[in-house]
Amino acid sequence: NSLRPLRPHFLALRSSCLSTSMDPPRVPNLIGGSFVDSQSSSHIDVINPATQEVVSKVPLTTNEEFKAAVSAAKQAFPLWRNTPITTRQRVMLKFQELIRKNMDKLAMSITTEQGKTLKDSHGDIFRGLEVVEHACGMATLQMGEYVPNVSNGVDTYSIREPLGVCAGICPFNFPAMIPLWMFPVAVTCGNTYILKPSEKDPGASVILAELAMEAGLPDGVLNIVHGTNDTVNAICDDEDIRAVSFVGSNTAGMHIYARAAAKGKRIQSNMGAKNHGLVLPDANIDATLNALLAAAFGAAGQRCMALSTVVFVGDAKSWEDKLVERAKALKVTCGSEPDADLGPVISKQAKERICRLIQSGVEDGAKLLLDGRNIVVPGYEKGNFIGPTILSGVTPDMECYKEEIFGPVLVCMEASSFDEAISIINKNKYGNGAAVFTSSGAAARKFQMEIEAGQIGINVPIPVPLPFFSFTGNKASFAGDLNFYGKAGVDFFTQIKTVTQQWKDIPTSVSLAMPTSQK
Ligand code: NAD
Repeated sequence: NSLRPLRPHFLALRSSCLSTSMDPPRVPNLIGGSFVDSQSSSHIDVINPATQEVVSKVPLTTNEEFKAAVSAAKQAFPLWRNTPITTRQRVMLKFQELIRKNMDKLAMSITTEQGKTLKDSHGDIFRGLEVVEHACGMATLQMGEYVPNVSNGVDTYSIREPLGVCAGICPFNFPAMIPLWMFPVAVTCGNTYILKPSEKDPGASVILAELAMEAGLPDGVLNIVHGTNDTVNAICDDEDIRAVSFVGSNTAGMHIYARAAAKGKRIQSNMGAKNHGLVLPDANIDATLNALLAAAFGAAGQRCMALSTVVFVGDAKSWEDKLVERAKALKVTCGSEPDADLGPVISKQAKERICRLIQSGVEDGAKLLLDGRNIVVPGYEKGNFIGPTILSGVTPDMECYKEEIFGPVLVCMEASSFDEAISIINKNKYGNGAAVFTSSGAAARKFQMEIEAGQIGINVPIPVPLPFFSFTGNKASFAGDLNFYGKAGVDFFTQIKTVTQQWKDIPTSVSLAMPTSQK
């Protein structure tokens, strides 16, 4: 029941926000090079968050299918790891070209399933594409080290070898970028892969896999299994999977970290965030307000690097009014509408949760400067829309501050000094990112030195690093040792083998003492 020839570029035909449908297609698994319909009778509807249209049905993969995927990855490993690295790089070179050619199709799939604006979907793909481009230079990134003559006639060198079968578990908010943080680095290092896309928006992963195969990735090197908790637990428990990459919430991330570690796996787990923008009164007002608006409300606040909290120091608090005025001007509508600034949030449940957290802020004494809860979007009345929302006078004890809201809600706090603002940020349990807005180099340097967060922005909101660096995280935002992409990403997907060789005349005497380099 191979679907591979029948479904070129999955969901390509359902390319409009308002497409009226025949039966929604079932999302195929990818096992051993074939796109196959799951035998499972259980599935989850993938719903367009702007219209509530059922876009597709994603199966809860059976255990047999999961085992078949791991077995295919295991079988493909020996040949793939011995494939010249130059060949593996060339697959990535072709892959990046195909992603570029199919950018619009991918973007429409993301906007239809996830809701973000088309322009933002292009950004989602492009930030992943950059990781693919970086993987094209893997031979240099994966180089080992060599020290000649560590002892007389003895040389030592280390090589970075792939691990075997690796797996990735994805969140809903970046349907292209996050799968592309994972499998391109893994497979170009010589591993084989099992990808578990988010059940909320699996379409982009399937298209990317089709393109990767078209680029020359051999059968079994990349496999896709869909599902939720059971599939994730099967990944954590499987004896043949050596490493797990996770991006998503803390509840799932810490569960996966503990369960997979108990089976001896290597894990990188990127989790939740509460990113702060610290605004000093000497900052450029216009640039800062525009940065705050974009970083708080872009993607309807559903970015792990969204600036969801702003701490105004001293007189900067008076900028709140201007912020509210500019936020009111943002256009909320279906992401495929050309003038959309922000689209819907992912689900009805997410909308309810966000509205509840806004209400908790009001009940705890915060001032609701802008309330987006009752927005009605003409033509998309059923969509999960929330307009930009701003809460002011928020304090660290409020639930709306302690919890990650993950919606278009900006909470505003005040501090009387720079030190007090830094202390507020460092006391927060999360440490994903933080940005300072200032015209003082000394203040910026102090911020960079003292803030406990993985990504620091200096007059830059959402400072997601390019792939020659790594995406990191601090405190509750990350568990593991080796971060995503960059040098750390290559280290994550490889293990070191150290070789010591001796090429000299055979010694004539025997010594049972521990060999040292002294002679
Ligand atoms: P989520 O944790 O609900 O889902 C992520 C993945 O985990 C999905 O594939 C899902 O099927 C699986 N999953 C969910 N609950 C599970 C459970 N109990 N047991 C096993 N598997 C489970 O996250 P989400 O809502 O899709 O994504 C939003 C979250 O991701 C936010 O917290 C956001 O901050 C975070 N995020 C972090 C980063 C980062 O780099 N730090 C990047 C993007 C998103």
